[in-house]
Amino acid sequence: MFHSARIKLTAWYLLIIMLVSITFSTIIYQGIVREVERFDRAQRVRIQRRLLEQTGDLQSPLPMPSSNPELVKEAEQRVLALLFFINAIILLVSGGLGYLLAGYTLNPIKKMVEDQNRFIADASHELRTPLTSLKSSIEVFMRGKTANPKEVKELLSSNLEEVNQLESLTADLLQLTKYEAGNGKVHFDRVEIETVIDKAVQRVQPLAVKKHIKIIKKTIKKQVIGEAESLTKLITALLDNAIKYSSKNSTISVFCKQIDSIIEITVQDSGIGIDQKELGDIFNRFYRSDKSRSKENIAGYGLGLAIAKKIVDNHKGTITVKSKVGHGTAFTIHLPISHTRV
Ligand code: ADP
Repeated sequence: MFHSARIKLTAWYLLIIMLVSITFSTIIYQGIVREVERFDRAQRVRIQRRLLEQTGDLQSPLPMPSSNPELVKEAEQRVLALLFFINAIILLVSGGLGYLLAGYTLNPIKKMVEDQNRFIADASHELRTPLTSLKSSIEVFMRGKTANPKEVKELLSSNLEEVNQLESLTADLLQLTKYEAGNGKVHFDRVEIETVIDKAVQRVQPLAVKKHIKIIKKTIKKQVIGEAESLTKLITALLDNAIKYSSKNSTISVFCKQIDSIIEITVQDSGIGIDQKELGDIFNRFYRSDKSRSKENIAGYGLGLAIAKKIVDNHKGTITVKSKVGHGTAFTIHLPISHTRV
């Protein structure tokens, strides 16, 4: 598909270049022909005048010397051949360059389409797993002859779990597409960083309580330019992971400080940690380390950090991670404090 689009684009480039080149060549050719004829006439007048001066008989002027049409024609043909040659070179060079340029133009689009296709394939794969499990459990249940209320309740509660997972996956997918499209930039405002952190901590508190995890926070009264809800989701995602990948009775900390014109937020845990070789992949969509995949009790689809990265990008910030397996992980976010009025 992209190869034929590249050929078509090259053909359009060539058509435009050759139209311009042929138009100019025609104008140049006509101009040169006119010049040759003018030169021929001027030359004959000059010869006639010289002959008159030699004879000195100005009363009976000599006839105008005849022109040499073959010489004129030959000059015109040479010009025509030269123009033809130049056009052929332009055709060849612009064909090659046009093909290269078409490649450069189409490559980002090709990458984007490939990326989208991979995203759709990964998303469909993730959606299919809970759907298949739902379908098969219902089918098995329907094949059974009788069912007591206890069995029905068990089936419904397991189905509800799958439905909840599907709901959270589709919500994550929608969020990711929203942030990838850069829509998060629309409602930028002054945001109190302390409020963002407080809200995020509040959201994850029930999960932390379940695992007897303590969250320590140290914030500052500073503002950044951004979208409050997106920034809250960002800190919530990091805290959520910190809780998921930490053992019971541990401590998680959220620190915030200002470094020049930057706000630094660090979310640190003392959980299972991430292998050094995986650190480069964790921000990719649908990436889950083998450890979190194999541990069935750790729910997730590998979208949390991809969403977090998009939010940070939309705020012109950076997110980095430091981790040691068995010791814990620290995510650090840098957000610029903008001094311009909104
Ligand atoms: P999910 O948590 O749903 O798997 P994320 O995108 O949030 O997806 O994280 C991607 C992967 O990064 C996780 O599967 C996990 O392996 C690793 N990870 C993220 N945060 C932490 C953390 N705080 N501690 C250990 N591993 C983490």
